[in-house]
Amino acid sequence: MRLPKFEYRVPQTIADALKIMADAGPNGQFVAGGTDLYPNMKRRQQMPKTVISVMRLAELHEITGDGKGGLKIGASVTLTDVCEHPVINRDYSVVAHAARLISTPLLRNMGTIGGNLLLDTRCNYYDQNYEWRKGINFCLKKDGDVCWVAPGSSKCWAVQSSDLVPVMVAIGARLKFASTLGERVIDAAGLYNDDGIDYLRKRPDELLIAIELPPTNGWRASYQKLRRRGAFDFPVLGVAACVHLDSAQVVTEAKLILGGIAPSPIEIKDAAAVLQGKPLDSTRIEAAAEAAYVKARPLDNTDFVSQWRKQMARQYTLRALNELAE
Ligand SMILES: Cc1cc2nc3c(=O)[nH]c(=O)nc-3n(C[C@H](O)[C@H](O)[C@H](O)COP(=O)(O)OP(=O)(O)OC[C@H]3O[C@@H](n4cnc5c(N)ncnc54)[C@H](O)[C@@H]3O)c2cc1C
Ligand code: SF4
Repeated sequence: MRLPKFEYRVPQTIADALKIMADAGPNGQFVAGGTDLYPNMKRRQQMPKTVISVMRLAELHEITGDGKGGLKIGASVTLTDVCEHPVINRDYSVVAHAARLISTPLLRNMGTIGGNLLLDTRCNYYDQNYEWRKGINFCLKKDGDVCWVAPGSSKCWAVQSSDLVPVMVAIGARLKFASTLGERVIDAAGLYNDDGIDYLRKRPDELLIAIELPPTNGWRASYQKLRRRGAFDFPVLGVAACVHLDSAQVVTEAKLILGGIAPSPIEIKDAAAVLQGKPLDSTRIEAAAEAAYVKARPLDNTDFVSQWRKQMARQYTLRALNELAE
């Protein structure tokens, strides 16, 4: 598979990157490591005419702060650097752990944290080469007019498949964007839209500058990932849990996020409700896992039988919460 022709620009400053993007208009797209964008271009799923690298923008490579005051990670920091960074490992070990579970060492050397959070949604009927997709007359997400997963549906159900997204939502990370119109900072939870085509609440011309992690004052978080091949595959279920415990080991705040089963991460509010104000014991953990099972509704568009993935939502929530209770 070959890349289509495109103009490649490598700006050295954020201002230049934003200007090139503004000039390119809808034909422009940012690229970081390219581990998601270039395969998509080879499959003719995304066809930008101007590709703007964000890898020479110095501010996007910075990591500053710590768990006490909060940590800022530049969007172009590679996944390998996230895995190896001493402060991330010490103060935000859940972030390093989830990054270590992403694809392979080679892809982690190229892939960035920003690219991971802005990943295209995935589906068995979409992540195929052009001829394969042409053979089924394409689908709603690109070039076609029917969804093969839910043929009566006017919505695309392609799956949000990043390992870091559920973690960032669970711990309350914030994302800083810039465009020629100015800057804005939003909660990670507010970025994702429950639609496999229109999956980000961000304009295409907005550049992700940095990810801001909140101070760690008392919270603990964990992440569990389901996939077939442990050394390679995308998550087909990811469970991120975050709890604040007081000195009596009572949960004062809880968040449970499921990834890999829908176009956006799913917050299980019923799970948080059963944990809130209670000790993190086996009774509450089992009730929270049941709530995750009830709310999880994976469709048949990734690896494994969807009903089994639903069952696994219970098991993986048990694992994530038991890890926090230890
Ligand atoms: C075989 C294989 C296995 C994989 N396994 C996993 C896995 O297990 N888990 C997982 O989470 N991912 C997986 N991935 C996906 C991918 O490798 C990672 O998510 C990686 O972090 C993407 O980062 P990147 O820098 O290469 O993104 P790119 O491909 O450069 O960009 C991805 C998207 O983000 C946009 N973008 C990038 N940076 C910016 C920015 N600063 N501002 C605005 N837009 C930006 C691009 O325009 C593009 O739309 C896998 C990929 C492959 C090919
Ligand atoms: S969920 Fe439907 S519309 Fe979306 S990519 Fe899959 S087949 Fe296409």
